[in-house]
Amino acid sequence: MPHPSPPTPHILVTGGCGYIGSHVVRALQERGDSVVVVDNLCTGHPWAVPEKVLVKGDLADRSFLSQLFSSHSIKAVLHFASFIQVGESVHAPLKYYDNNVAGTISLLDAMSEAGVKKFLFSSTAAVYGTQATVPIVEEAPLRPGNPYGRSKLMVEEILRDCGQAWGLETVALRYFNAAGAHPSGEIGEAHDPETHLIPLVLQTAAGRRDAVIINGEDYDTPDGTCVRDYIHVCDLADAHLLALDSMKGGSGNRAYNLGNGAGYSVRDVIDACQRVTGKSIPVKTGPRRAGDPSVLVASSERITMELAWRPRFTSLDKIVEDAWRWERKLAGK
Ligand code: UDP
Repeated sequence: MPHPSPPTPHILVTGGCGYIGSHVVRALQERGDSVVVVDNLCTGHPWAVPEKVLVKGDLADRSFLSQLFSSHSIKAVLHFASFIQVGESVHAPLKYYDNNVAGTISLLDAMSEAGVKKFLFSSTAAVYGTQATVPIVEEAPLRPGNPYGRSKLMVEEILRDCGQAWGLETVALRYFNAAGAHPSGEIGEAHDPETHLIPLVLQTAAGRRDAVIINGEDYDTPDGTCVRDYIHVCDLADAHLLALDSMKGGSGNRAYNLGNGAGYSVRDVIDACQRVTGKSIPVKTGPRRAGDPSVLVASSERITMELAWRPRFTSLDKIVEDAWRWERKLAGK
């Protein structure tokens, strides 16, 4: 009798039904990795991943996690599940610490119990806050200006402690502004409520909103609006695959920035959206949004040098084109 072959080890993706997670799931599946997605669907969408890979469940449910790890052979965890709205985090900090920090502790505890020691963490440029030196390098002082950023920084610190204590190998990817959509037009950004700039501007272009409200035009930037570094979600997905492959045992606890190194103001983004859509987009000036740093632009030199990451879609217009294709599809969903 031939022995049955051992089960294929899976990559566990938490929050895989969300915007960035779903693009990473697709990239993993395209190269033949076996994926299990855990999502509580409180903000994620079941349509964002193939039905057969999705397990509905909550990271706060520790017995659910034990059951999950004992019923699947998991070789690495990619952790996306979290709340992500800067403004909301200022007004509801405990919601952020509970979900983003306590939820992650529960997940790490289950991993420790199951002996899973590779962890890729979805972190953020918000760990830096306002910096005197731009572009921002990973060694820059970490001083997040809002509870969202602090919740992510706390997790990064917890990961280092787990690395020391039980050999957990981790990569934290500090995303600047994820944008765009899969060029197939099949998946993209769909937050409810939507708070991110590019989808809001495009929804206004499509006539689904009356005007874009600019959150403050009195910043110390060339046109007074906040400057951000927009990075195509598929370039982010590529970086996850490289980071995952770089964890071979003993590579410690690393952090990498992910951005294009180019800063665009809110006004620049609105101009790009007008160019791409060919529509005139009404704009109004509003107050500053709590917790917003004036400028966030990445140096991604470390991941370029160490993991040979090369972004494929660096032009803002290309990012907006893909987002626009998706926005029109989403309107019909
Ligand atoms: N923003 C804006 N109007 C909006 C939404 C966003 O002016 O309706 C600004 C926001 O204050 C920030 C920038 O656009 O300066 C990017 O915001 P987003 O929420 O997309 O990403 P974040 O920088 O918070 O990660």
